[in-house]
Amino acid sequence: MKYYDRIEFADQDEIRRIQGIRLKNTVYQATASRFYRGKLAMAGIRVSSVNQAEDITSLPFTTKEDLRANYPDGLLTMPVDRMVRLHASSGTTGAATVIYHTSNDLNSWAGLVARSMHAAGVRSWDVFQNMSGYGLFTGGLGIHYGAERLGCLTIPAGAGNSKRQIKMLKDFKVTVAHIIPSYALHLGSVFDDLGINPRSLQLKIMLIGAEPHSEEVRRRIEAIYGVKAYNSYGLSEMNGPGVAFECEAQSGMHLWEDSYLAEIVDPKTLEPVPDGEVGELVLTTLCREGMPIIRYRTRDLTRFIPGDCPCGRIHKRIDRITGRSDDMIVLKGVNIYPMQVEKVLMSIPEVGQNYVIELERKGYLDQMRVKVEIRDEFFVEDMRTLQALQQKIAGLLREEILITAKVDLVEHGSLPKNQGKAVRVVDKR
Ligand code: ADP
Ligand code: ZN
Repeated sequence: MKYYDRIEFADQDEIRRIQGIRLKNTVYQATASRFYRGKLAMAGIRVSSVNQAEDITSLPFTTKEDLRANYPDGLLTMPVDRMVRLHASSGTTGAATVIYHTSNDLNSWAGLVARSMHAAGVRSWDVFQNMSGYGLFTGGLGIHYGAERLGCLTIPAGAGNSKRQIKMLKDFKVTVAHIIPSYALHLGSVFDDLGINPRSLQLKIMLIGAEPHSEEVRRRIEAIYGVKAYNSYGLSEMNGPGVAFECEAQSGMHLWEDSYLAEIVDPKTLEPVPDGEVGELVLTTLCREGMPIIRYRTRDLTRFIPGDCPCGRIHKRIDRITGRSDDMIVLKGVNIYPMQVEKVLMSIPEVGQNYVIELERKGYLDQMRVKVEIRDEFFVEDMRTLQALQQKIAGLLREEILITAKVDLVEHGSLPKNQGKAVRVVDKR
């Protein structure tokens, strides 16, 4: 069974046709909400003028600020009593936004997650441990219902409590896990502390996502656990996980175009970028009735990967998210993304599994301090060896980000560990 549902191998024409129909439907549905009734009228949009996928460009954008200004229910198209669940973003960049779902919405979301997991090679006979936080965060219940839909034995482990996680992985012979990448690295060091080899488990697939991470981190996770790790992208405004997911080819994430209409625009001009270039991902829900969202500016930076995927799926692939447009660090006039720093650090064998970037002001000068955990076997008494390592890291960083950072080497386990998404940048300026 290569595909989970028929739509996965739809051709370009069929996908465009479905998008046209569903876009019209979505706009029609959206006019039932207080927010879009006003917004669409202001933009002079009539449902009758939206007939094909290309008509998307005539519609106005929706921003996170719009969602906040209409908190909590200004985008609902039906009375609240038709809604059956509510989720919220984790609030990484400010006040949380709330999304309501009808039971049809939850049903189509679970289908998307099941399809995504299947594309990464998960099957009904797998034993699946979900190490995401449950509650308002969509990585918990969102993935959970998808895994059950696929037919996996699903263990709602939740976040944290590493020793218990490891016990469950062993006792229940878990074959697939869903885990935030920074936590996967951390859990690896807990295995070390316990003297258990993670490769001795039955694990063969890890689904990693919810936060930016570099290819180097993926490789580390694969090496630590002896698994294949697949990137999973989603955001609560677009349901959560199940928006875009890597297939077994591991060459970019297929964005499910029957359910989301994706555009990549220049964040300044809001015009589409030339094909294959990086810009801001803009998404429209095509299968949501309770709270449809049109042209949502995700603030996530990525590009469409040109060409065909060896798996045969036509759904467009997006590249690893470079970061959010508001993650960019401006230091001494240079623009830096935290992922550039991570890429360098994680390619250095002596570097352990955790790091943090601190921005400080010394007098009038801004400076970057990178605190890096060093693997136990390299954390030696010998000052000269450590100094050499420090210089090596600073040098490699300079090549990538063109700035000389102060590098502090610290012992494994000494940097703060977050339960959910890692906080990689602390701005003390
Ligand atoms: P918050 O915006 O508060 O973090 P969400 O839980 O909705 O709330 O998180 C969605 C965001 O997480 C995305 O917009 C994106 O920035 C980030 N994200 C999710 N999955 C990935 C991924 N695979 N790679 C990089 N970033 C991701
Ligand atoms: Zn593919």
